[in-house]
Amino acid sequence: MKCPYCGEEMEQGVIQSQHELSWMAKRHFMGGADFHEGSVLLSALSIFKGSAVVSHLCRKCKKVIIDYENGKCDCNHSK
Ligand SMILES: [Zn+2]
Repeated sequence: MKCPYCGEEMEQGVIQSQHELSWMAKRHFMGGADFHEGSVLLSALSIFKGSAVVSHLCRKCKKVIIDYENGKCDCNHSK
């Protein structure tokens, strides 16, 4: 993936957690994406594997991009 800021090739890697990974409009201390309207689930939690999303890094621009179309960023998503 090319960085949309500088156009250079980005490094692919993962962001992982022992909790569900989701985008929410604001910080919540209780409940996952299912409980907060407008949230986007990035990686469902697996009790055995945790959660992880494929992401792309640009060290020059200091940006990380997660493409969550059709759940394809979710390492726990069955493809
Ligand atoms: Zn860049």
